[in-house]
Amino acid sequence: MSMKNKMTISDIYFAGRRVIARVDFNVPLDKDGNITDDNRIVGALPTIRYLVENDAKVILVSHLGRPKNGPEAKFSMKPAAERLAQLLGRPVMLAADVIGPDAKAKAAALKNGEILMLENVRFHKEEEKNDPAFAKELASMAELFVNDAFGTAHRAHASTAGLADYLPAVCGFLIKKELDIMGKALDNPERPFVAILGGAKVSDKISVIESLLDKVDTLIIGGGMAYTFLKAQGHNVGKSLCELDRLELANELLAKAAAKNVKFLLPLDNVVAKEFKADAEAFAVDSTEIPDDCMGLDIGPKTIELFSAAIKEAKTVIWNGPPGVFEFEKFANGTRKIAEALANSGAISIVGGGDSAAAVEQLGFADKITHISTGGGASLEFLEGKDLPGISCLTEIPSGSCDCSSCSGCH
Ligand code: ADP
Ligand code: MG
Repeated sequence: MSMKNKMTISDIYFAGRRVIARVDFNVPLDKDGNITDDNRIVGALPTIRYLVENDAKVILVSHLGRPKNGPEAKFSMKPAAERLAQLLGRPVMLAADVIGPDAKAKAAALKNGEILMLENVRFHKEEEKNDPAFAKELASMAELFVNDAFGTAHRAHASTAGLADYLPAVCGFLIKKELDIMGKALDNPERPFVAILGGAKVSDKISVIESLLDKVDTLIIGGGMAYTFLKAQGHNVGKSLCELDRLELANELLAKAAAKNVKFLLPLDNVVAKEFKADAEAFAVDSTEIPDDCMGLDIGPKTIELFSAAIKEAKTVIWNGPPGVFEFEKFANGTRKIAEALANSGAISIVGGGDSAAAVEQLGFADKITHISTGGGASLEFLEGKDLPGISCLTEIPSGSCDCSSCSGCH
């Protein structure tokens, strides 16, 4: 498969060479432009430190937010560059542009071990179009490309994939860790292997359900998407989220699970309310008795027990999508209890998905989880078994002798 046997930064000789490293510094900012969560910057530190320690001339490139009309101060990389400098305890220069005269002059003047951050790569609309001329201009500033932005690895953009057409391309430590942990879980899991899926909609996660049914021993479904399955089984789901155009598909997935001997666990009971509101009156009902005027917003106590028991037996667990509306405290209990079961299970635990990762952090279980993926969409596509363009573009480890003049073997 084209995602394996990729060269990593450990395979490359960097001293004195200009390296353009794609990182994911797409951090959340408050209205005054302060970073509210620097996890993504922290995640890239091992790669950046390694490049600096190995005397590379480091050029960092990232996007931040969704600028639509060229450069805009509120989407500047400045806060990210400043936070990085603090975390590293060394200076990080910021270019005034991406491929303009300032970036080029500063890149050319870099000394070994110095760091330059380019401005927001999405100030150019060519980035998301993976425009070859733009990728070539970016590439012209460096001799090597390191991709460590797992969060955008499912996008074929100029700075995530296009650069590899012009430069030798290897992955950084963050991407390597994501691939190693999730790749092993999918290819060679310790069993029982349990997947927990939740979130709002079935339609978002059809391919991941299909792909996981080929691999897991138990598939647990909670969250809004459970109601499409319950409806397909003939239950009344009241005002719960339900995709009527997916009932047939839901039945096909249930049949596929049965044919493959995969245990398919759905909620036995639910915490329901009449309105989608933080302070709505909440009560638990069995899945067979959801009133017409109510919607399911969390899993109930019997379901928590059922799901937790499966998690307790598991040796590998992948979790994507919260089983309830955890943003409302009244409906966060299911998510909290599932996170707790996972934290106490002793299983290899992998959390993918932006909201699930946020929930696990908010609820205080992050340090008990084996791996929290830094890429929401990217981890989902990885679990679906898709090739990620930001990874498949990277240079393969040569099977025979090599004369690339870049790798440590050739130096
Ligand atoms: P992730 O980002 O982890 O992949 P999703 O984006 O698929 O997760 O889903 C997260 C959202 O699903 C959350 O905002 C949560 O409130 C919502 N959700 C969970 N359960 C329900 C439910 N029963 N009804 C409506 N929304 C739900
Ligand atoms: Mg989400």
